[in-house]
Amino acid sequence: MAWLIVDGHEDIATALLEDQGRDFGAPAPPGRALSLPQAKAGGLGLILGTVFAPQGYWKGEAATAAAERQMECYERLLATHANDLFRVESRGDLALCQPGGPIGLLHLMEGADPLRNPRELKRWVDRGVRVVGLAWNTPNRYCGAWDDDRGLSDDGRALLAQMRQLRVLPDLSHLTPRAFAEVLAFDDGVVVASHSNAQALCPHRRNLADDQLRAVAERDGVVGIVLYNPFLGAGRITLDTVVDHIEHLVRLIGPDHVALGSDLDGGFGTPDCPEGIESVADLRRIGDALAVRGYPLPSIEKIMGGNWLRVLRQTLPH
Ligand SMILES: [Zn+2]
Repeated sequence: MAWLIVDGHEDIATALLEDQGRDFGAPAPPGRALSLPQAKAGGLGLILGTVFAPQGYWKGEAATAAAERQMECYERLLATHANDLFRVESRGDLALCQPGGPIGLLHLMEGADPLRNPRELKRWVDRGVRVVGLAWNTPNRYCGAWDDDRGLSDDGRALLAQMRQLRVLPDLSHLTPRAFAEVLAFDDGVVVASHSNAQALCPHRRNLADDQLRAVAERDGVVGIVLYNPFLGAGRITLDTVVDHIEHLVRLIGPDHVALGSDLDGGFGTPDCPEGIESVADLRRIGDALAVRGYPLPSIEKIMGGNWLRVLRQTLPH
């Protein structure tokens, strides 16, 4: 069965830049998951490719420079593979994501650390960034993160205001519970959690509590299932474990708010992925596993890609 797959979180530029000489046009090296031929074989229609340069890795100005290098990496990819990849910046671009067609690439900034001030958002939006998570695992000028309990700063609120004005979607994955709540309290717009699982099944602090998951759904957003084993559970992790997480979410918030956000090659390799996921080509096996559990086709289509498309259609500029 072929579904149009949307993967809401892939660290493509980070993976390619860290692994010098790696060719996105060739199958991924052993232990790694991302490549263009495998994305095509898997039926991907749209990928949210991250710009990832948090203070945890880069200090001050270096974060901005690192983000520039990542954006240049994406620009090289788009130029080199112009027949197979295209940038998605608008609703019109989104309509071009079709089964068997070229794969759309939309940029998600994971951690706003590269922005030296909120006004700099515009420059990144002009280059294609359409989703921003205010912080990664380390606090920055906008927001607290794991190791503290700070919420949003004044700059964080100013950045959120800029994001809404420029139609940039807030990503709540990685935020502290307090920052998560403060983003929701800021306005009543759509939010997403691009790569987070359910704490009810795996009590990791990177996962979300049921009330947080409900809050994303109440804003008509999506929660992307992340395929990193420590966020899925303990012991043997298989596609069944992934489907258990999806099933929990569907029971809690309905099939319209569950999606994929694999985080593949995001600092971990396939040994840390569920059995059955050897590369991005295997994402479609999640849909097959849902079908085996008796999920109706319309729900599977939504979870595998339709929900991300709906949210982006509501958010992206014309
Ligand atoms: Zn992440």
